[in-house]
Amino acid sequence: MSHLMNTYARLPVAFTHGQACRLYDTEGREYLDALSGIAVNTLGHGHPQLVADLAAQAGRLIHTSNLYGVREAEALADRLAEVSGMSEVFLCNSGCEANEATIKLARLYGHKRGVDQPVVVVMESSFHGRTLATLSATGNRKVQAGFEPLVAGFLRVPFGDLAALKVVAEHNQNIVAVLLEPIQGEGGINVASTEYLRGVRELCDARQWLMMLDEVQTGIGRTGKWFAHQHAGIRPDVMSLAKGLGSGVPIGACLGEGRAKGVFAPGNHGSTFGGNPLACRAALTTLEVIERQGLLANAERIGQRIRDGIAQACPATKVRGMGLMIGIELDRPCADLVKLALADGLLINVTAERVVRLLPPLIFTEADADELVGRLSVLVNRFLAAK
Ligand SMILES: *Cc1c(COP(=O)(O)O)cnc(C)c1O
Repeated sequence: MSHLMNTYARLPVAFTHGQACRLYDTEGREYLDALSGIAVNTLGHGHPQLVADLAAQAGRLIHTSNLYGVREAEALADRLAEVSGMSEVFLCNSGCEANEATIKLARLYGHKRGVDQPVVVVMESSFHGRTLATLSATGNRKVQAGFEPLVAGFLRVPFGDLAALKVVAEHNQNIVAVLLEPIQGEGGINVASTEYLRGVRELCDARQWLMMLDEVQTGIGRTGKWFAHQHAGIRPDVMSLAKGLGSGVPIGACLGEGRAKGVFAPGNHGSTFGGNPLACRAALTTLEVIERQGLLANAERIGQRIRDGIAQACPATKVRGMGLMIGIELDRPCADLVKLALADGLLINVTAERVVRLLPPLIFTEADADELVGRLSVLVNRFLAAK
């Protein structure tokens, strides 16, 4: 019997090591990794520069404290500001923590403007994490059930519906921010249109709200640009990051710009581990390798190749997504496909019951993509024919 608390229904496999886009289990079997530990292993497994940089950093310094200056954190904040065009960075350790920072920032922003009961607008089918505030912001009853009372101060609207957002704007004077994912990940790879994101941006400007984007899953090159919102030619006031930022080393970030600048002061927020030298080194190397190896363009190109390949090979499915964040919607629940793929040496995921989710490492090659398309399409078509 495992002594781990029973929080995950785990698949019957454990891995001992990995190399690039392959993982190897305790029986020596090889798997093609099309999930990256849920959008985390940006550089795949065993990337030589990441391994070397982490080893060197571990030998130099792993942790000091935010009571002191941390040079690696300063460097990472500079680099994140450069690629995002945003100017302030708070470093933490995970996606839910990054979103907690966005929610606290929005509330403090509201209080400073004389709004005593600030409200953050959130979306149906959203996912923002498992802490109390972030599960309250999440648009999925399964995530919330049993954990009431929920944190107050959230107002929910349908995703992608600008008219609905305009209606709540007219009726609620306490709104201070809107929080959404540019592409809903856990919700089923639901892509916000450019018009919608631009409309939210305009409404936030007109109302002096903070536009807060949860790019925990979509950020760091996943969609073919550094951040998914860049496809729409807009910039948020607040953005949360985590997953792919450290290529597997836990790290999160909350970025602020415009109206969101200068809201926090010493004492308002903090994190013991946040911005430690080891995690920051992982993120710095991740950003450096993405740039040097041209991984943004690779994500765009390989993603298109996978989407085209699946659309052609599996005409009974609906394929969507951007870059290497891909959803394949079936006409029926398909959670069983995860086990069928595992038995076939392929790591994928199913979300929102009917959507196969692919999140390969950004180093995925054409050969990896063609292998994935070939093997997955056989599994999907066989699954659809069997019932
Ligand atoms: C995974 C995820 C989170 C939560 O991140 P954790 O690191 O698990 O806390 C939040 N938002 C989005 C969009 C995510 O995909």
